Amino acid sequence: MFSSVLSHRFQTELGLDVTHCASLKVLNEVLGNSGHDFTMAVVDLNLPDSPYGEALDAAIGYAVPTIVFTASFNEQVRDRIMEHSVVDYVLKDNEFALDNLVSAVRRAISNRKTRVLVVDDLVSARRALVDLLEAQQFMVAEAGTGVEALAVLDEYADIELVVTDHHMPDMDGYELTRRIRRRYGSDRLRVIGVSSSTDRLLSAAFLKAGASDFVYRPFVPEELACRIAHNVETLMQIKQLRAAASSDYLTGLYNRRYFYDQGPRIVNECLRESRPASVAILDIDHFKRLNDTYGHEIGDKVLKAVAMRLNSLFEGSDNLLSRLGGEEFAILFNELDSRAATALCDKVRADLATLKVNADGEDLSVTVSIGVAEIVDYETFENYLNAADQFLYMAKHKGRNLVYSDVKMAEEAAR
Ligand code: GH3
Ligand code: MG
Ligand code: MG
Repeated sequence: MFSSVLSHRFQTELGLDVTHCASLKVLNEVLGNSGHDFTMAVVDLNLPDSPYGEALDAAIGYAVPTIVFTASFNEQVRDRIMEHSVVDYVLKDNEFALDNLVSAVRRAISNRKTRVLVVDDLVSARRALVDLLEAQQFMVAEAGTGVEALAVLDEYADIELVVTDHHMPDMDGYELTRRIRRRYGSDRLRVIGVSSSTDRLLSAAFLKAGASDFVYRPFVPEELACRIAHNVETLMQIKQLRAAASSDYLTGLYNRRYFYDQGPRIVNECLRESRPASVAILDIDHFKRLNDTYGHEIGDKVLKAVAMRLNSLFEGSDNLLSRLGGEEFAILFNELDSRAATALCDKVRADLATLKVNADGEDLSVTVSIGVAEIVDYETFENYLNAADQFLYMAKHKGRNLVYSDVKMAEEAAR
């Protein structure tokens, strides 16, 4: 029962292909055929034909990263497991055992995309830390000195965790932690100190300097592994919260908050470097009528379709697209003056008019109006958007399915 529930959860929750082996005999056959192709093994220490963890030896023998799942646990069992460098072990002793196991597999897979830096001048001590981290599937970078560590951090912008020794020749771990904190906040990079020092105050010093955690040597590998996992998980949660806070629930585009957070920074950069910039507000025409005729759900479907098309039009560009709210979208054009932005918006307008959204067998289409304003002087961000909004109002007034801007106004006057 356990294994069928587990197989199902690995498939549905983690999208993994699962091969189930009910005995050591079957396991050996499977490993013999394709042992090196497995992402991970989850191994019960106690199988009918292998009561002493022979299945663990078999999986490790084929270098498959292995998580042990065991009902019986004591110090001997623990030592037996830790003879090998396993990813983790999970006990079957509580109602959350299955959840814990699924989490352990998920974590190990996600660790493969997480880079960690190990800093220690002593090669053997560094090796032990690297082995422990690699067993947990992390990408590991190494440095033998504090100066080297800072250089590696410059080289790899994706390092999320630094595990550092304290006593080192050029710069101690405490000083390294302080320097790291001058550059990276704890919401971006975690630091864990590890030291064989007998100074009981060292731990407090590290934490005060901005380390996220500290462990004295000799450490229990499971303890350090758990502390590492917690720190990596915290960063993951921060990332998820950031993403949720900046994205629009319905369409998945950036939301108004993100647009107003990032917009002023982008505008200031453009103005400082004398590069052109423009802003556009795009509004679906007669959207209320569509809602009233077909219902709110169809309205939502149209909003999502428009958002997806806009996203595919602007994906990979330097332009910042967001849903301001309702049926209004904003685009901040990096490097485009109002002439170029107006021309681009005309293409967007024409493209959206070809969009078909299926509603109960009927193909619906919508048009949009867009107001474009160039960003020239230092003003409040709100003012730039107000200017675009006024051009949008004129586009609506002139009959909709139109782009309006100072460029269009000048063209009209010249006629
Ligand atoms: P105009 O051409 O002048 O822009 O007319 P309009 O009907 O598009 O503009 P109006 O501002 O009068 O109506 C916008 C409508 O959008 C009203 C509101 O019910 C609807 N709306 C706002 N947010 C949502 C949403 O998230 N989902 C749906 N389905 N409708 C929404
Ligand atoms: Mg509208
Ligand atoms: Mg509107």
